[in-house]
Amino acid sequence: MTEDYDVIIIGSGAGGGTLAHSLADSGKRILLLERGDFLAREMDNWDPKPVFVEGRYISKDTWYDGDGNPFQPQVHYFVGGATKLYGAALYRLRPADFGEIKHVDGISPAWPLSYEDFEPWYSKAEHMYQVHGNGGEDPTEGPRSEPYPWPAVSHEPRIQQISDDLAKGGYHPFHAPCGIMLNEAERARSTCIRCTWCDGYPCLVHAKSDADVIAVRPLLGRPNVTLVTGAEVTRLETDSSGRTVTGVVVSRDGEREVYTADIVVVSAGAANSAKILLNSASDAHPGGLANGSDQVGRNYMFHNCKAVVALCTEPNDTVFQKTLGINDFYFPTKDYAYPMGNIQMIGKSNAEAMRGEKPKLTKLSPEWTLSDVAKHAVDFWLTTEDLPKPENRVTTDADGNVHLAYEMSNDDEAFRLYGELRKILNHTGMAEHHVLRKNFYMDMDIPVAGCAHQAGTCRFGADPATSVLDANCKAHELDNLYVVDTSFFPSIGAVNPALTAMANALRVGDHLQERLA
Ligand SMILES: Cc1cc2nc3c(=O)[nH]c(=O)nc-3n(C[C@H](O)[C@H](O)[C@H](O)COP(=O)(O)OP(=O)(O)OC[C@H]3O[C@@H](n4cnc5c(N)ncnc54)[C@H](O)[C@@H]3O)c2cc1C
Ligand code: SF4
Repeated sequence: MTEDYDVIIIGSGAGGGTLAHSLADSGKRILLLERGDFLAREMDNWDPKPVFVEGRYISKDTWYDGDGNPFQPQVHYFVGGATKLYGAALYRLRPADFGEIKHVDGISPAWPLSYEDFEPWYSKAEHMYQVHGNGGEDPTEGPRSEPYPWPAVSHEPRIQQISDDLAKGGYHPFHAPCGIMLNEAERARSTCIRCTWCDGYPCLVHAKSDADVIAVRPLLGRPNVTLVTGAEVTRLETDSSGRTVTGVVVSRDGEREVYTADIVVVSAGAANSAKILLNSASDAHPGGLANGSDQVGRNYMFHNCKAVVALCTEPNDTVFQKTLGINDFYFPTKDYAYPMGNIQMIGKSNAEAMRGEKPKLTKLSPEWTLSDVAKHAVDFWLTTEDLPKPENRVTTDADGNVHLAYEMSNDDEAFRLYGELRKILNHTGMAEHHVLRKNFYMDMDIPVAGCAHQAGTCRFGADPATSVLDANCKAHELDNLYVVDTSFFPSIGAVNPALTAMANALRVGDHLQERLA
């Protein structure tokens, strides 16, 4: 089968879904190819056992680590991509993240564009994804041309208490920016019911601002937009000059299909986008498509993260916990010359999801059951920037499988951030000896499997020798190939990546509209 479009977008997540939305009004014929299906609405969506213990919504893919050991990557193949499961913490990078930053293990490189260049797109993305927040509370935040479209999600009493205690201790807690459709002023009209099954779960009532609900579903039925699900892109073909993608090869229901378009946009997630390009080697591109510089697949990042549980004697009755952020350690402090990162909350612990951690967690309070531990737990998520190292890379083998070689960086910064959290908890009635790292959420048996925040692999830049994409996210070596997922990140900062991918997709969308006009 051969069909022709103006634009083909591969992948319907934060990057691809948002781009499709931004192009839909142009009237151009857009084809969105998604290897997954719509995520089923079912009670399992809000049940920790299938979601966290059985991994119901994680792909069955097998990838291989740098030593060739197989692992199951935490990737999600659905319309909306990883955003179906994400925590919807929609942060902007800080202005300094766009410049060069000195870290304990090396340099985080500058982006070809500045925060000021991105700012209008951040505002547009915040409107589109209905981000709730209070501008000006976080001293590390950059200037904004528009306020958040929705007021911040309020803290529940226990989290408000922690926030007040931290403020009294001289810290600067802020309301975390959050993409949930909660209308606190009119709860009867609110789509979001403010439940506890948000971070890491699909939203059963479609109240999370994910790329499926916000970006893709509103396009269904438009005559110029076609969504094909179950369509795994396996290869891109070019003309003999190698400058133009002439065919998008898809495997669907065991059949080979080929689609064509004037413009082809890859947005399959950082690892899978690299996989597609590397598996598209040809005479014109022997090392993989757009890979004359040998940069495709390199500089993979996914954050140096820790999930931490703190116990206090009083119960934590919080339902929706992801409302607080602390950036007091985002930049170097007087005691440490390097940035440490961001502290935020994650979804509230529950006994079912903690079961695998039982021996360690009940050691904190031997007389407590796991349910007691979960009831008293306050859960934090610590993020330190990891560096884009060329040897941290995606490659593919003769069968086209993903191999992911990765060594963590900036461990000293991450360790110190953990130390700072333990110190600040002393201000909140949670003794530091009642704090423990826990695996849950991203951290699985093999750390590299927790690739929720994957980025890099096709970085953008001015120099074709050191980057894959130009400032418009077009491949340097091709005339009609773009990449708009988190692959384009030259560095990752220490805040969650999705809003930056969404903002960039809107930016590239405007560029493509001009190009196609
Ligand atoms: C549990 C979890 C929690 C998270 N929480 C947050 C958070 O709170 N805040 C935040 O900012 N970020 C969060 N993230 C990360 C965020 O979801 C990602 O950064 C973001 O979705 C990346 O966007 P993307 O477009 O690069 O990839 P994705 O959103 O993953 O989209 C890629 C799409 O491509 C499709 N695809 C893959 N291969 C192919 C192929 N060969 N052919 C066709 N289609 C293909 C996939 O099915 C998928 O739909 C979280 C992620 C997870 C997993
Ligand atoms: S808190 Fe709101 S957005 Fe999140 S899962 Fe519950 S209803 Fe959905």
